[in-house]
Amino acid sequence: ARPRVVVVGGGAGGATAARYIAKDSKGEIDVTLIEPTRTYYTCFFSNLYIGGFRELSSIGHTYGTLAAEYGINVVHDWATGVDRDAKTVSLAGGGKVPYDRLIISPGIDFVEGAVPGWSTAAQGKMPHAYKAGTQSELLKRQIMAMSEGGTYVMVAPPNPFRCPPGPYERISMVAHYLKANNPTAKIIIADPKPNFSKQALFEEGWAKHYAGMVERIGPDFGGENVSVNPDTMEVDIDGEVVKADVCNVIPAQKAGLICESAGITDGNWAPVIGHTMQSRLDENIHVLGDASAQGDMPKSGFSANSQAKVAAMAVRGALTGSKVFPAKFSNTCWSLIDTDDGVKVGASYRATDEKIAKVDGFISATGEDAEQRKRTYEESVGWYAGITADMFG
Ligand code: FAD
Repeated sequence: ARPRVVVVGGGAGGATAARYIAKDSKGEIDVTLIEPTRTYYTCFFSNLYIGGFRELSSIGHTYGTLAAEYGINVVHDWATGVDRDAKTVSLAGGGKVPYDRLIISPGIDFVEGAVPGWSTAAQGKMPHAYKAGTQSELLKRQIMAMSEGGTYVMVAPPNPFRCPPGPYERISMVAHYLKANNPTAKIIIADPKPNFSKQALFEEGWAKHYAGMVERIGPDFGGENVSVNPDTMEVDIDGEVVKADVCNVIPAQKAGLICESAGITDGNWAPVIGHTMQSRLDENIHVLGDASAQGDMPKSGFSANSQAKVAAMAVRGALTGSKVFPAKFSNTCWSLIDTDDGVKVGASYRATDEKIAKVDGFISATGEDAEQRKRTYEESVGWYAGITADMFG
């Protein structure tokens, strides 16, 4: 019988890994992909949807090609548990799927009680929009419905979290929309972190494009001491109560819950060996993307895609004896600040026995000319087309 690989989660990590294993093993490995949603909305470029630069439909992707062209068994269901001794994954719809190697890339879930007053039950009133799709739509609708001169509050997350520049790109996109449609509106960020990704670039851009609109309250001013009341739409920032028209709560994060059920977490995340992305707690399981604790890489779609290729090579090597090369990784995180004003930060990485370690990096400079910024934005559009083709075929 052919060796079996089961992949849990059809996002940036999981879809890429499934596709590479099926493609490169040329039918030698039986690949099953378990993913509950039929349309996966990328978080990447979901901020551009909020800013009006993209339609929601343009960031939705389906699994038809992975099934039809690559012969992957796509199962639309939730994985509810992993029996690591029997090597099976159980499904919400009933039944168990056996594996020789299991790849888990479930993304994030939220730490309960991280923002007092907020729970996932409140996400219909105070959206996180940190999983894309209906949450992104809701947040956009709320922003469009803000009263004239109203207030948008973001409760930003503590480190580590998915997409370090993501909250700040979002602020830029919300400001872009409000500047055109509700120019006296205000944006407040309550932030528990003393500093954040590409901070100088964002702050320069906000001053240039959205002067006076954005106020960030860092930990020195109580930005880490926040509670919310979804019924009254009040946000308490260190004793100061703000009435919000929109309150975008992005709570502290942890590995997708299936990692806890599988018993492969240590604290909030699932530790892995960088050389192969194998779990440090079970050599038959590989963990990719946001859920993994791997070292220096940020939690991004680019990182998850890069890690997936390393895991795919390691899994094929283990199951079919194909050649395995030393693990190399890369990442770039682009952000759009305003029309044609794109910035980026990135690095290359290699695996050591302890972790995935940064080799060298780069970042856009403040004060760059408009041509350079436009090129950076255009590069991100090309990257989006490339990574989604790499994931979904
Ligand atoms: P995901 O892509 O989230 O995939 C996880 C999948 O697993 C989901 O489809 C989910 O339905 C499924 N799943 C979960 N649990 C189960 C289960 N029990 N059974 C079966 N399936 C399950 N990254 C970039 O590189 N560039 C960007 O510009 C960028 N912008 C971003 C902007 C925002 C606003 C946000 C929120 C994120 C952004 N990211 C960006 C980060 C990027 O989206 C994530 O880092 C990336 O999606 C992680 O990939 P993953 O495979 O770990 O998780």
